[in-house]
Amino acid sequence: MSEDFYSVLGVSRDASDDEIQQAYRKKAAKYHPDVSDDPNADEKFKQAKQAKEVLTDDQKRQAYDQMGHERFEQAEKRGGFDGGGAGGAGGMGGMGGMGGMGGAGGMGGMGGGGGGLGDIFEQFFGGGAGGGGGRSGPRQGPDLRTDLAIELEEAHEGVEKQFTVARPETCPDCGGSGHPDSADAETCPECEGRGQTTQVQQTPLGRVQQTQTCRRCEGEGTLYSETCSTCTGDGQIRNEATLSVEVPPGIRDGQSLRMEREGAPGENSGPNGDLLIEISIRKHPDFDRDGDDLAHRAAISFPQATFGTTVEVPTLDGSVEMDIPSATQSGETFRLEGKGMPRLRRRGNGDLFVKVQVVTPEEMNEEQREALEAFAEAGGEEVEVAEGFFEKIKSSL
Ligand code: ZN
Repeated sequence: MSEDFYSVLGVSRDASDDEIQQAYRKKAAKYHPDVSDDPNADEKFKQAKQAKEVLTDDQKRQAYDQMGHERFEQAEKRGGFDGGGAGGAGGMGGMGGMGGMGGAGGMGGMGGGGGGLGDIFEQFFGGGAGGGGGRSGPRQGPDLRTDLAIELEEAHEGVEKQFTVARPETCPDCGGSGHPDSADAETCPECEGRGQTTQVQQTPLGRVQQTQTCRRCEGEGTLYSETCSTCTGDGQIRNEATLSVEVPPGIRDGQSLRMEREGAPGENSGPNGDLLIEISIRKHPDFDRDGDDLAHRAAISFPQATFGTTVEVPTLDGSVEMDIPSATQSGETFRLEGKGMPRLRRRGNGDLFVKVQVVTPEEMNEEQREALEAFAEAGGEEVEVAEGFFEKIKSSL
């Protein structure tokens, strides 16, 4: 059973690359198999190395933060993250501070502990408990996911968002045990208290022995004379939680925020799982987004493009004036530095690219038409005005 990479190195979830490298060098010096007397040095050295490799790789770290330790390890065993397909774009890296945002955190008797508790439980009980059934110790609850839509402006500024999420809760009447305290307990006769049963089957290939969780006591080893009427024995009730999450400036569409210990409650007083909030950003009428850059289209007339002009361009920090030089071609793009989206977890902003579109008039009055014909003739061009165009002009008069 391996351990959370951040705790392996003893760094916080928002540690910088430098801090991680430094922590790794310390661990490596301590546990290097050539110098250490610790019988587990080899294992500890390997763990530290693996933790450093994942946490100093932007893409892997992002995937790790989003998936959590266990799922990350499983996914890596299945094929690794080197293709980049892992967790969408962008450097989400250690959202660190997110954990415990929602306040409360742990449940009941667990105390309001932060992230650390989960790791301790995983270490002591995690792997074994899940194994072949049997009586289980505290187990962390499953992660929950939810979607949260925000405006581009909110992704630009950062925003604190309130939302509700359907989340089961430990039954308040039985504290999760599924039976009232007054219920009589007897050892399950089916499994004799072991929580699992073994069946031996004769098959053409020989005897096959199969062990499974006892169906009668569902692995508890104990039967109770009464079932909790509030939760009908599940130990959990349906509920809705209202939470608030701090969405950091620069977040991208499709990225997820993790709120530690805000997922479903654990079993047998285990800690809650995590809540993953997938952010979607609504389309904006004025801007398209490409990474940290924004794009905007500005329409100008043919004379403006020819002689140059000043246009007012909207930005997410208010509109700005932009000079367009003479002889600008349709499709030319101008860059407004730093007027794009803020870079997540980093300093600075992307840019705003303004693409100029020279608009050909669809309608004009008689005077304009004559002037344009004269303009063409003066340049030695022969123009023939299509009939349809005249009709358009007449109808607009
Ligand atoms: Zn109950």
